[in-house]
Amino acid sequence: MALKITFQGENKKLSDDVFRLAIKFMLEHLLPKRTISRLKLSISFDPKDNMVNAIGYCCDFSSKNYFIWIRPTRERKKQLETLAHELVHIKQFETNEICASTGNMKTSWMRTLSKNISKCVPKKEIDAYWDSPPEIEACGRAVGLCIRFLNHCDDKNINYW
Ligand SMILES: [Zn+2]
Repeated sequence: MALKITFQGENKKLSDDVFRLAIKFMLEHLLPKRTISRLKLSISFDPKDNMVNAIGYCCDFSSKNYFIWIRPTRERKKQLETLAHELVHIKQFETNEICASTGNMKTSWMRTLSKNISKCVPKKEIDAYWDSPPEIEACGRAVGLCIRFLNHCDDKNINYW
């Protein structure tokens, strides 16, 4: 078996090929190869999948079957960082550190545009989101995953823009 990645919707800033490369590179820093080879990822840039105020989110459809939505209008580096963030959550699903019932998915596993979110979500929930260990790990690891991916592309002369 091999990792399966499918795409829906249009992204004018980054190609599906760059996403494919980034997903493989980042997952190899997060999960064993054997686990990666069983995953099915559905990546969407489709506006119809947008959740209010989200910059990205992920959910597990069933075991090994995940959905990631990324806001395609954001700048390229931000999109890659959001991808890395959501892949850390997939690692957490795979290692049972989180599950869909751990909390309200919308507030727990969704990255949000902070200036708008306070209008629709109580402060207590916003604090719980940012201070939860899974979010701290995802935010922290996303930065390093993204920098290493971009360095990797530079080293291999991969034109990612
Ligand atoms: Zn998150």
